[in-house]
Amino acid sequence: MVQEIKVTNPYSRCDCKSEYKVDEERSSKYPFVGALCMNGGDVDNSYTTNSLLQKRVLSITNPILVKNTEEMLTNLDFPKCIKVADLGCSSGQNTFLAMSEIVNTINVLCQKWNQSRPEIDCCLNDLPTNDFNTTFKFITFFNKKLTSNGSCFVSGVPGSFYSRLFPRKSLHFIYSIYSIHFLSKVPDGLEKNKMSVYITSSSPLSEYKAYLNQFKRDFTTFLRMRSEEMVHNGRMVLTLIGRNTLDNPLYRDCCHCWTLLSNSLRDLVFEVYSFKMPFYDPNEEEVKEIIRNEGSFQINDLEMHEFDLGHSKEECSLQSHKAKAGQKEASCIRAVTETMLVAHFGDDIIDALFHKYAHHVSQHASCRVKTSVTLIVSLVRK
Ligand code: SAH
Repeated sequence: MVQEIKVTNPYSRCDCKSEYKVDEERSSKYPFVGALCMNGGDVDNSYTTNSLLQKRVLSITNPILVKNTEEMLTNLDFPKCIKVADLGCSSGQNTFLAMSEIVNTINVLCQKWNQSRPEIDCCLNDLPTNDFNTTFKFITFFNKKLTSNGSCFVSGVPGSFYSRLFPRKSLHFIYSIYSIHFLSKVPDGLEKNKMSVYITSSSPLSEYKAYLNQFKRDFTTFLRMRSEEMVHNGRMVLTLIGRNTLDNPLYRDCCHCWTLLSNSLRDLVFEVYSFKMPFYDPNEEEVKEIIRNEGSFQINDLEMHEFDLGHSKEECSLQSHKAKAGQKEASCIRAVTETMLVAHFGDDIIDALFHKYAHHVSQHASCRVKTSVTLIVSLVRK
């Protein structure tokens, strides 16, 4: 007789209700949202091979990560055990680049102040569908990046960050890079815009309102869950895609990644209306207001950086470089969206779709005025 072995995640077990609710929502009207995860493995189209943009984003987040790690350590008077979590770690090495920066900062500061090194619990979270195995294969890479040998423990925490993931008051430091712009679901009431997978200048205002409300709901839930899990004076550094427009909430520039995806899809299929991105790019004011209204966190830093896909102006004046830039960006967007697109449209169109996408990008390679930005916000648990 085969005995059924149930594997449960000890951290999410105590709050399985909200976990179920999230699962239900994710798979409601737009079932492809349940497939949201980056391409696994380490082959050509995988996330780990195509996440150079995110790697660059990490380098601009680093100074704030280091500063907040130091402040957390001194404010908490050098705890003997420190629990750090990366929310939305994805597959590949990126999570370890940030984690090693934090661990090294802790160890250097302890040495400087003549304190014994703490034991550090490094928790890597993502959705259960994430390819954690590929991430764990980079553990040797992580160990090599550590500049001193303190005690460091790495574990995976599968579950949605819109539910409880950790025991009460257990976390000292949280970071999340390029993950919380993903919503728990596609907002309801978007039927009127059949031509685009996301907000564009031709969308009705109700579409923006629906997306904003969903983001408000999700980000508030995210903050409330973390406020329960964090110790007083714990720190959180969040980096996400935002927009720099304060007036027209519908305006996105012509080379916004989802506008280009809509254009590419329309080249191949007639209407894209039942595919919508579970994504929202807030502006600074919207982020600040949600944090203020939720009330558990104090804003420490808030920075806005250019959204940099890494192509210089000079490079883009050459035709061959334009084509290359297009392919690079197409591979990056493919690694992020392929699982959802396949769940909705099937896999027949994927190669052609990203061929089109690369072409559209190359047509826009010299556009310089972008609405997309990278927002970095650091928070202190009150
Ligand atoms: N931080 C990584 C990954 C960014 S990609 C990096 O910088 O490279 C975004 C990741 O967020 C994906 O792996 C996706 O699966 C994850 N994600 C999206 N929604 C999530 C949720 N509700 N809970 C946990 N992870 C989520």
